[in-house]
Amino acid sequence: MTEDEAAQIKMQFLYALRSKGVTDARILSAMERIDRGAFVRGIFAERAYEDMPLPIACGQTISQPSVVGLMTQALAVGPRDRVLEIGTGSGYQAAVLSLLCRRVYTVDRHRRLVREAQAVFEALSLPNIVALATDGSRGLPDQAPFDRILVTAAAEDPPGPLLSQLKIGGIMVLPVGQSDTVQSLIRVTRLETGFDYEELRPVRFVPLVEGMAGD
Ligand code: SAH
Repeated sequence: MTEDEAAQIKMQFLYALRSKGVTDARILSAMERIDRGAFVRGIFAERAYEDMPLPIACGQTISQPSVVGLMTQALAVGPRDRVLEIGTGSGYQAAVLSLLCRRVYTVDRHRRLVREAQAVFEALSLPNIVALATDGSRGLPDQAPFDRILVTAAAEDPPGPLLSQLKIGGIMVLPVGQSDTVQSLIRVTRLETGFDYEELRPVRFVPLVEGMAGD
């Protein structure tokens, strides 16, 4: 691929993001800087700049870029925030977040995915990501509370431990609903007195599964 072709593909990628509602300049610039191709293997790598989910190892998927952009936008992350992501998968979402906040803790129940994502974070010199193999349905109590929590796997309801690990004023974005149907992306804001729930859009994610996977 020539440099011109590569630039053309990136321009189309950014155009697709904007046309789907990703309008925040900081997020667009982070997504321009992080090479999605580094997070996809084999024959799918050449489709990394298309706006579609793609298969990754362990039967999981890397989310569609416009969904990554819209979830990041809904999360309203600031430069001083400590963010927890449940569902490292390929590591792409964590990499995008890492350019927008102070520190990202990302966890996955597949050790292999965490290991492979860590290698990409190192190769791309993203030092403010901590990737851990653990069951994210319990959150990450050692590092709680968090300013922001992003869940990239669908639970039937917001998991209690995650709600309790959110700071007051903090925001959590997550898909909720049965895994084999269309789910709703929701935004939960923790108030002094309780939680505020807002429904954002229909989405489709792999399920949040309790317990560690075997690989
Ligand atoms: N954010 C990822 C895509 C995530 S796919 C990316 O940018 O590529 C959803 C991920 O959630 C899968 O990797 C799956 O293993 C993980 N997952 C499902 N249940 C989990 C749990 N209880 N704890 C941690 N990770 C979980």
